Amino acid sequence: NYVSVANVVMAFNKKDIENVFDGSGFLVPRKEGRSVTACTWTSAKWLHTSPDDKVLLRCYVGRAGAEETVELPDDELTALVRKDLQDMMGVMATPLFTEITRLRHSMPQYPVGHPQAIADLREELRTTMPGVYVLGAGYDAIGLPDCIRQAKEWASVAVQAAEREAVKVQA
Ligand SMILES: Cc1cc2nc3c(=O)[nH]c(=O)nc-3n(C[C@H](O)[C@H](O)[C@H](O)COP(=O)(O)OP(=O)(O)OC[C@H]3O[C@@H](n4cnc5c(N)ncnc54)[C@H](O)[C@@H]3O)c2cc1C
Repeated sequence: NYVSVANVVMAFNKKDIENVFDGSGFLVPRKEGRSVTACTWTSAKWLHTSPDDKVLLRCYVGRAGAEETVELPDDELTALVRKDLQDMMGVMATPLFTEITRLRHSMPQYPVGHPQAIADLREELRTTMPGVYVLGAGYDAIGLPDCIRQAKEWASVAVQAAEREAVKVQA
């Protein structure tokens, strides 16, 4: 299952924001009852993304069981995010610009038993469709470094399998 989320990116003048950006952002637990589920301090996490005198914040909206906010009109979504940023970070400044991207069915949700289900699928593929491998965010882990690691591991498995086949053919 994939959940839909919206990315709401806001840019500010650094001089208008009092916060010290000594991390890469924060996550918001469901029980807080907020619209924003996470906020990446983009300009602090990736220094190249904004000039030194600007602050770029990326807020996520939408989570499992609460996806309807993703489809709100831009102005309503912006107002919800600004309210949360005011309450949680004390950001009162007006954004220089706001950019909204809706990513529908983009966040995989792992149910209980997911690792075993994936292991079973791979075992089935190994016998019924040798040479076919499944990997990516929906399978083992979501972060980009995790996806890259999976790709390297499974590419290595594929190469080894191909080499074994080549040896068999030569023999
Ligand atoms: C809003 C959002 C923010 C995120 N932020 C971060 C972050 O800050 N840091 C981080 O580490 N990770 C982040 N992630 C997670 C990370 O980006 C994803 O988990 C990762 O990109 C998934 O990679 P993937 O290759 O598995 O899938 P994808 O990147 O989704 O690639 C799958 C590809 O397959 C194509 N495709 C689908 N079906 C077919 C088909 N039938 N035929 C041909 N092609 C097809 C799709 O078009 C797509 O190009 C974020 C994810 C989202 C949604």
